[in-house]
Amino acid sequence: MPQPLLFKSGFVSFIGRPNVGKSTMMNALLGEKVAIISNKPQTTRTKITGVLTCEESQIIFVDTPGIHRPKSKLGEFMVRAAQSGMGDADVVLYLVEPDEKVGPGDADILAKLQQRGGVIFLVINKLDTVAKPKMLTVIDAYQSRCTDGFAFAEIIPVSAITGENLATLQNNIIKHLPQGPRYFPDDVLTDQPERVLAAEFIREKLLQMLEDEIPHGIAVEITTFKPRENKNMLDIEATIICERDSHKGIVIGKAGAVLKEVGKRARLDMERFFGQPINLQLWVKVRKDWRDSDVHLRSFGYKS
Ligand code: GDP
Ligand code: MG
Repeated sequence: MPQPLLFKSGFVSFIGRPNVGKSTMMNALLGEKVAIISNKPQTTRTKITGVLTCEESQIIFVDTPGIHRPKSKLGEFMVRAAQSGMGDADVVLYLVEPDEKVGPGDADILAKLQQRGGVIFLVINKLDTVAKPKMLTVIDAYQSRCTDGFAFAEIIPVSAITGENLATLQNNIIKHLPQGPRYFPDDVLTDQPERVLAAEFIREKLLQMLEDEIPHGIAVEITTFKPRENKNMLDIEATIICERDSHKGIVIGKAGAVLKEVGKRARLDMERFFGQPINLQLWVKVRKDWRDSDVHLRSFGYKS
C-alpha cells in the first residue's frame, strides 16, 4: 500500500488505577484489526501491547512497567521520563471511573501526570453506567484539581464495553500523533515486535539520510537483540541489505559518515523507546534480488 504523504504514527500508553478498564479499552480499539501482541516475554522496559494500523496512521500501544502502578513506582517512572524522555509516549490516555470523587490514588496519578506534561487525555470510561449529565460533574471534579497552566489535551467520556465514543477517542489520538512512518507492515503478526520496530527505526533513518539516492530496495535484518548480562544495556546488531554493490557504497558514505549518522540517530530513537542504553552495531551487505526471495522476505518479518 503506498504511504500517504502525511502518515502519522506514535506511541500511546494507558494509565489509570486497576479495573478502570485499560485492557478492555485497548482490546475494543484494536477490535478485529490485526494486532501485534507478543506472548513471549519481551526483554525491554517498554512493551508493545498492540498495534492499530489505519489507512493514514499507526497507533502503537505501549506498556511501561511502573506506569500503571500508583505511588512510588509511578512517581519514579514519571520523574525519569520527564528528565530523560525515556520510555515516553506521544499520547497518554489517563483513564478514570465516572465518579466525581477523586480518590487518593487518582490524586496522586494526576499530580505526577501534571509534572510530566505532554499530551494527556482525560478518558472517563464506563459511560454506560451513569446518566450523561453526571459526566459534567466528573469532568469538573478532575479539571478543578489541575494546577494553573495545565490542561488535558482532550476530555472524552467513553464506554469500552458498548463502544460508545471510541471512534472519537481514536480520531483524537491520531490528531495528536506526530508525522511518522508505518513502523509495522499492515498484516504482520509477530511475536518479536521489538525486533520489527528496531529494524524500522534503522530503515527510517536510512530513508531520511539518503532521500532519493536509493530506491526502496533496502531491508534491515536484526541479527542480535539481547540484554547484556548484569548491565542495563541492550546489544543490537543489524544488517542493512542492499540490492547492488553501488548502493552499499552510498549507504556507508564517505569514510563511513552516512552509516555512522544513521546508527547514531537510530540508537537515540531506540534508547528513547526501549528505555535503556543501547549498543548498536550496523553491517551492510549486498544480496542481489533479495526482494524476489521468499525465504529472505520471511526472515525480514513480512508476511507473504
Ligand atoms: P484494567 O485493570 O484497567 O485493565 O481493567 P479491565 O479492562 O480488566 O476492566 C475491569 C472491569 O471493568 C472488567 O470487569 C470490565 O468488564 C469492566 N469494564 C471495562 N470497561 C467498561 C465499560 O466501559 N463499562 C462497564 N460497564 N464496564 C467496563
Ligand atoms: Mg489490565
